[in-house]
Amino acid sequence: MKKINDQILSFKIGLTNNFLIKLSGGYLLVDTNYYHKYKQFLKELKSEKISLGEISYLFLTHHHDDHAGLAKRFLLNSQAKLIVHNNAIPFLKMGIHDNRGKHWNKWIQQMLNPLSKKINHNYPGLKVRKEDFILEGDCLKNSLDLGIAGKIISTPGHSSDSISIVFNDGNAIVGDVAMNLFNLGETKYRPFFIQDINEIYKSWRKLIKFGAKIIFPAHGKSFAADKLSKKLHDIKKAEHITNS
Ligand SMILES: [Zn+2]
Repeated sequence: MKKINDQILSFKIGLTNNFLIKLSGGYLLVDTNYYHKYKQFLKELKSEKISLGEISYLFLTHHHDDHAGLAKRFLLNSQAKLIVHNNAIPFLKMGIHDNRGKHWNKWIQQMLNPLSKKINHNYPGLKVRKEDFILEGDCLKNSLDLGIAGKIISTPGHSSDSISIVFNDGNAIVGDVAMNLFNLGETKYRPFFIQDINEIYKSWRKLIKFGAKIIFPAHGKSFAADKLSKKLHDIKKAEHITNS
């Protein structure tokens, strides 16, 4: 487990980063992992001497199986309350991906499509309970008072239910709305799977507007938010050239 600061810990299982945020009486866990990674997940917690009972909340950045796959099992074995965006609920219930979208470029599509036909993205579905927290809209009006010095904002584009946490010190946990994996040409910082590219750029601008300085993606290492600003600037410039 890696210590980011006095409040945030992170650990990585496979290609997915998880975060644990210290609250006054427990922890908030950001995301889980694939269903079959449960043992490894428990091992990570054990290494930091954190028991399941100490985790008060599970914050799902979105419903994909590498984030929500073992959520049902975790919730059954802990007292944690779930925090999700309203748009995640139908997919979480069935334990399926919202497939409306596409992979960013042909090369990645060709590389991933034959695989994704073989990989089953389904996972044990979970019902939202009355004690859980459902966030709606841009999340700002109904951000929870968790004792976190920061804000929960909606950051759609990769999926319609994507949510992020922007801390007052500039650290931002963003799920898959930005990535730092492989970084192949055009795909740099962009998620591989895209529901709406304009929504992604809007979400990046929103993160910056809310004070994000360091981006902590679910896939890949953290990076300066300035890189997203630069990318947005370059895109705008390119659009201007094509339109003129
Ligand atoms: Zn995802």
